[in-house]
Amino acid sequence: MCDTYRKAVDCMSDLTQRLEIVTPEKKVFSDEITFVIAPGAEGELGILPRHAALITPLKIGLIKFDHEGNRIIMTVSGGFMEVRDSKVTILATAVERLDEIDIERAEAAKMRAEQRLAAKTPDIDVVRAEAALKRALNRLNAKR
Ligand code: ATP
Repeated sequence: MCDTYRKAVDCMSDLTQRLEIVTPEKKVFSDEITFVIAPGAEGELGILPRHAALITPLKIGLIKFDHEGNRIIMTVSGGFMEVRDSKVTILATAVERLDEIDIERAEAAKMRAEQRLAAKTPDIDVVRAEAALKRALNRLNAKR
């Protein structure tokens, strides 16, 4: 009987589901996994095999799963996740594995966004600058 969250993961550990992660630029990942966590628009979602079908927008955050004995963590900058028939499809605007994150680039993006937000001039698109700042902070925090 799977009566706790942890036990649920253990009980299902022999079952797998397909995870596909795609960006406009490339197919990032495609293989069988047991459990994936993604930043759903209304909170973090953990998906086990046989999960009910769903489609949700994704926020800026982290995707986490185990693959071939390694815990994989990727930053994601938003997109959509579809779960159906034990297949999880993540269509992301941008995804980086931790080793792909360029810290200097993220620091520069953070500084640009902060300067734009501090300037408070009418030509600044505040929503865009805030989103850029969140993406940069997400990348920097993931590396810490
Ligand atoms: P920048 O202003 O530096 O381009 P951004 O947040 O606007 O940052 P995105 O539009 O989210 O960048 O991503 C564009 C592409 O660049 C994507 O392929 C993304 O994976 C990659 N990318 C962005 N920032 C970094 C980073 N710090 N390290 C590695 N790849 C990055």
